[in-house]
Amino acid sequence: MRIPRLTFFQLFILPISYLLFATTSSPAAGDWSIVRIKDQEYVTATNAATFYNMESFVRKGNDRLFQRPDINMKWTIGTQLIYVNEVKFNLSLPVVEYKGHALISTTDLVKLIDPVVRPNYISKSFDFDTVVIDPGHGGIDSGAKGRRGLEKDYNLDLSLRLKAELEKRGFRTVMTRSNDSFITLAQRVAIANAQRRAIFISIHYNSSGTRSASGVETFALAPQGTAPTHKDPKSALPSSLNGNAQDAANIALATAVHAHVILAFNPVDRGIKRGTFQVLRGINKPAILYEGGFLTNPTEEAKIHHPAYRQHTALTIATAIEKFKSVVAHR
Ligand SMILES: [Zn+2]
Repeated sequence: MRIPRLTFFQLFILPISYLLFATTSSPAAGDWSIVRIKDQEYVTATNAATFYNMESFVRKGNDRLFQRPDINMKWTIGTQLIYVNEVKFNLSLPVVEYKGHALISTTDLVKLIDPVVRPNYISKSFDFDTVVIDPGHGGIDSGAKGRRGLEKDYNLDLSLRLKAELEKRGFRTVMTRSNDSFITLAQRVAIANAQRRAIFISIHYNSSGTRSASGVETFALAPQGTAPTHKDPKSALPSSLNGNAQDAANIALATAVHAHVILAFNPVDRGIKRGTFQVLRGINKPAILYEGGFLTNPTEEAKIHHPAYRQHTALTIATAIEKFKSVVAHR
């Protein structure tokens, strides 16, 4: 879905502040009619429209369109995608139809929609002054291979540029690696968990067996009991992980970074996704993993190879983190 730049900007800029007041508290049970289908709990779109005081709620084929001055949202029956203020999110479970109603799982309600749409239910406050930057791969592990370069080197270069941009903005930074050395995923987790008042961002570029695959995607940890995006539901992790304690902050941080990058570069938007990468599972701070485009796509690789593009990306991510921080600190 392509959104004209100005529209996107207008719609996005206010709600991001709302989003960052995200919560992990559950919506009050009495306000929701729970629909149970095959051991899965859902709520209806009409129930959501009422609960969130939407001014307009429209059914258009399989689409459900919600609108109020600060929020517009679109659900589509049969898909696992929703849009909130033009930001694309991958749901943990599909939107289903039942007796003429569009239904969304209570997991996606609590872990995604509620933190995005309802600003003022803060269950846990946090602030940070440190950003742990994790350049993916390194040393013997080169990551994705482009025709002109290796992922590990682009990751490190973008990370060093991000470090400089964040320090200009008054943040303390910690790098999990600052040269071409190999470190394990467990070491990356340990470095992040040793910091106080910190957030974590892992920097990657992508690869695919299909040359046409392109675009930017940003991962936040899958909520407990749900599978990563596009993975078999049976692969869901059963237990609560370190990272799940920050579910609301994770999705808020992912949204801030992802939306700023999409706005700045208008790449193919692969959306905010759910992952179970070891770094996201193990870190006890708000954490995301950023995939800044495909080294296996010739057009995208040419862009990534350009230092000016990486510099602009670093500036954009630093701006997103600064925005995230400014809202968090106002609490
Ligand atoms: Zn990678």
